Amino acid sequence: MKKRGPKNTSSQNPFRVLLIIALAAAAFALIFQPGGNFGQEEPQEISLSEFLQKYEEDAFQTIEIKDNKITAETFDEERYETTKEAGATIVDLGLNDRMKRAQVEIVDTSGSKMWLNILLGVAPFILLIAFFIFLSRKAGGGGGEGGPFGFGKSKAKIYDAKKHSTKFTNVAGAEEAKEEVVEVVDFLKNPAKYRKMGAKIPKGILLVGPPGTGKTLLARAIAGEANVPFFSVSGSEFVEMFVGVGASRVRDLFKTAKRNAPCLIFIDEIDAIGKKRGQGSGGGHDEREQTLNQILTEMDGFDPGTNVIVLAATNRPDVLDHALLRPGRFDRRVHIDMPDLEARLKILDVHGQNKPLDSSVELRKIASKTVGFSGADLESVVNEAAIMAVKKRAKTLLQEHLEDAVEKVAMGPERRSRKISEREKEIIAHHEAGHAIAGHFTKNCEPVHKISVISRGSALGVTWFLPVEDTYLQSEQKMKDEMVSLHGGRMAERLIFGQTTSGASNDLERISQIARAMVMTYGMGGKKLGSVVFANKKRGPFGLDFEEKDFSPETARLIDQEVQSLVEEAEDRCLEILKKHESLLKTIANDLLKKETMTREEFLKYFSKQPAGKTKKS
Ligand code: ADP
Ligand code: MG
Ligand code: ZN
Repeated sequence: MKKRGPKNTSSQNPFRVLLIIALAAAAFALIFQPGGNFGQEEPQEISLSEFLQKYEEDAFQTIEIKDNKITAETFDEERYETTKEAGATIVDLGLNDRMKRAQVEIVDTSGSKMWLNILLGVAPFILLIAFFIFLSRKAGGGGGEGGPFGFGKSKAKIYDAKKHSTKFTNVAGAEEAKEEVVEVVDFLKNPAKYRKMGAKIPKGILLVGPPGTGKTLLARAIAGEANVPFFSVSGSEFVEMFVGVGASRVRDLFKTAKRNAPCLIFIDEIDAIGKKRGQGSGGGHDEREQTLNQILTEMDGFDPGTNVIVLAATNRPDVLDHALLRPGRFDRRVHIDMPDLEARLKILDVHGQNKPLDSSVELRKIASKTVGFSGADLESVVNEAAIMAVKKRAKTLLQEHLEDAVEKVAMGPERRSRKISEREKEIIAHHEAGHAIAGHFTKNCEPVHKISVISRGSALGVTWFLPVEDTYLQSEQKMKDEMVSLHGGRMAERLIFGQTTSGASNDLERISQIARAMVMTYGMGGKKLGSVVFANKKRGPFGLDFEEKDFSPETARLIDQEVQSLVEEAEDRCLEILKKHESLLKTIANDLLKKETMTREEFLKYFSKQPAGKTKKS
């Protein structure tokens, strides 16, 4: 999935421009020396003695002497050129014979030479200065007003509110989040109204949500709506180079912000510096801690009249230091969730607006096919579709372009060039058919959306299960069924070929992740363990992952046993299903070999005669 960072709006380095101008001027001066005979026919080069000979013969009509170059034209309009010794005068050369008809002209070049000399003399200095400035910027990231050696200056990019016109309408979906920040906008616009009422406005607001859901976008929209300066800095930028710089950058950032109040400070990806302190060690860590401390100090130091609001964004609120979340700091949280069907439709709509969508396009269909896609993914879908339309020389963006783009974003680009032997193709086809059948004959698995034996991204084949609707809770049974369908690939290989391959490693990884999450996080581990959570909540499969807590070795053994038995149970169920439908497995695999891809409709046709395990999916 592609993630787009905020666009860098910092202007071109003015010194680079100066440098380019100086070099261009020097080149210009060298080429277009005054009096240069451009456009005329090139004179013929002759030796000095030949030239003097011709002079003696009185062949020349005009002679022009410029520095050490002598150019002469005969009465037959032939042009000659020769070079004299530096310092040799026309008297030395005997060109002052009054009996000759030649018109001798000496061109004075000292004027233009002086200018060239000055330029050439100054250019190295300009170069040198520019180089130093370049270095210091690279090292310390001197900000807008940092002066040439501002190592500790804040690297915050200032988005001028007038230039930066992201508005709430650009943020589609996220209605609740927008509602929550409306009052922030109002406060920045009319601080007096709130002060009169004695209302305290939060100093810090934390935008929380999965990657790509539009946190950065929303922050920019807040600034755009409030029409105030917006200082944006990314957490990772603080932790860049020299120890101690992070903290001084923070100081500088807040100082500048206060001077520009009312305004917004936006610290993107604050988890890069805001992690819980006092874990691990190392120089980089100390640096982070200092930076974090400085942020806390600065936020405490705001007096109530300061109209500066600090926004921060993270997708890992669980790892943030508690001190950051205390009242008076980032005590207000705004959650941005993954978009649901309606939100996805709106996001697709927003990004389709400046593209020539065909009138036959049904964005709702695309929205319903993209459960689990973030705003950024959806933006990519529309963009990939546009690229595809250009490739196919279509005049408008068609539904098929969008559908192909959904697959590309979900599963990576097709890799048809990958050379795969017939034998391997056969194994892949059975593997994928195994997943599809195992999934189909469980109650709670998502319906099969597409099966393909074309390599995509790093996968050799894909079975794509797609939920029909947004779900927020996962049942125990659903997780178990999921494991069954994940076993399908490997079990099919074992059943048909009597051996398994390395192709299932990713499946196995996911199976054990699910099983461990069930036992350790969801209390689904059986009677002996009970409903105890053995892990700290984090993100992972089904939106949760785990970080191991301290527990006794006996408990660890019990957990392992439970996990093992869950995995085995799923494996047995899977094998049973595949054995029962072995002939169907072979048929589907063989058809896959011929067709390469199979849609949901094509897949479901195999089950129309025999009653399937479930009807809700057909
Ligand atoms: P985050 O900061 O949450 O990781 P971003 O704000 O950087 O996500 O979002 C990346 C891109 O995805 C945005 O620039 C925008 O084009 C698109 N996007 C994400 N969410 C939305 C949304 N709700 N409405 C419109 N576009 C969105
Ligand atoms: Mg972001
Ligand atoms: Zn697999």
